[in-house]
Amino acid sequence: MIAENIHSVETRIQAACDRAGRSRSDVTLICVTKTMPVEDLQEAYDAGQRSFGENRVQEINDKFPQLPSDIQWHMIGHLQRNKVKYLMDKAVMIHSVDSASLAAAISKEAVKAGRVMDILLEVNAAGEESKFGLGYGDVLPLVKEISTLPGIHICGLMTVAPYTDDPETNRIFFKKLRELSVDIDRQSIDNVSMNILSMGMTGDFEVAIEEGATHIRVGTAIFGKRNYAI
Ligand SMILES: *Cc1c(COP(=O)(O)O)cnc(C)c1O
Repeated sequence: MIAENIHSVETRIQAACDRAGRSRSDVTLICVTKTMPVEDLQEAYDAGQRSFGENRVQEINDKFPQLPSDIQWHMIGHLQRNKVKYLMDKAVMIHSVDSASLAAAISKEAVKAGRVMDILLEVNAAGEESKFGLGYGDVLPLVKEISTLPGIHICGLMTVAPYTDDPETNRIFFKKLRELSVDIDRQSIDNVSMNILSMGMTGDFEVAIEEGATHIRVGTAIFGKRNYAI
């Protein structure tokens, strides 16, 4: 079932790349595995997937030792400063940085661990009350503020667009995120690249690809509905 789902998601990714004149290799599929048992992750792994996304540190901690070591773990959820240290030997990237204090905590732990952590700044693209993330106008000042911190590399932007039945309604937000990343890139700030746009989920990943997503985060279309009760 999971392998079939991945196959159909892959077909849709390829079609969106074709429509946009982009290469499939320019888009990374992150399988969002939160709440899913390790057996399901192993199935996705066996179907060829290597990039997995989790939104809780505890879950990465639990699953990490039970699965192959060549998995690239992406932290995509809201992150508390005191939990940052647990990610240093596990995550390849943190998508959800939205404050100077969190960036400073990541910097400190990365230096301690002797590594550089790739980070994305999370933008609340639709200005939703219920969501984390920066307002558009707060992104560049934060980039400038944290760009000199050791142990982190700012690689781009991330957003969680509104939940919608009509993916077209999110196109404007993906467009705006891309424009913002181009604006920031033009500033040529040291230690800052804007190569990554992490946007698009089950409901809207094709539109996101058409608007320039380099990383899409897909859960439900691969693993089915999540049960948060367990
Ligand atoms: C859960 C989650 C996803 C995946 O959502 P689906 O709609 O199941 O594809 C993507 N990004 C983030 C940040 C998430 O928390």
